[in-house]
Amino acid sequence: MRKKTLITICTLLLTFLLVPVTSQAVEATGSTRTKKTKSVATVKTVFVAAGHQRRGISSRERLAPGSSSRKAKLTSGTSGVSTHIPEYKTNLAIAKAVRKELEKRGYRVVMLRTTNNCPLSNQQRTKKANKSGADIHVCIHCNAAGRGATGPLVCVPASSRYVGKKIYKKSRLLGRLLLSNTAKAVKKKSHGTLRSNYYTTINWAKIPTVILECGFMSNPREDRQLNSKSYQKKLARGISDGIDKYFSKSE
Ligand SMILES: [Zn+2]
Repeated sequence: MRKKTLITICTLLLTFLLVPVTSQAVEATGSTRTKKTKSVATVKTVFVAAGHQRRGISSRERLAPGSSSRKAKLTSGTSGVSTHIPEYKTNLAIAKAVRKELEKRGYRVVMLRTTNNCPLSNQQRTKKANKSGADIHVCIHCNAAGRGATGPLVCVPASSRYVGKKIYKKSRLLGRLLLSNTAKAVKKKSHGTLRSNYYTTINWAKIPTVILECGFMSNPREDRQLNSKSYQKKLARGISDGIDKYFSKSE
């Protein structure tokens, strides 16, 4: 009896010791995507921020740490030229589709907002992302220019001046992968990359942060697409593909 008990204890101990190692080994091959197979230690967290809210905030705040320039705390965003839907609603719908897709793939998702009431400035939003425990911060927006403008565009830091070298490099990688995979998923040519140190949202980042402009609400056709469930799903898949590739490259 004693011997049997000892064997049982040893088996249990061995199982306990082996399980985390085995699941990490599986994860390291990059072959797992589903919730079931991801071990707790390797689950990545994505902070998904739907841009804007019901109203802008016109008072000003510091553009970047150590900078004397100031910018409006929050702009009100654009609206659809055809649908007349305000951008903050479209952004939220896309952000929710992204959350659904990422969770399906085993990610943990923290949402900046789940309603259209979020009276935080851009700086406060980024500070919330920094403190959330997330690995990356993806801001969802929609763009406006001419009626003919089309395709996704990504905004990334122009230099390491405010964010430091590590966040600069990782944000640029994340931006590149989000842009190419999103464009591919919606079968559009990308509108390119905007490199700028003039985004409060990016300048205060302490985790890799990018702004993704999913398409142009000033283009009647693209406006209707951006506000359709099926296109939002395609965007969500493209964004998630980009995030999958980012984590397989950056780790
Ligand atoms: Zn916007």
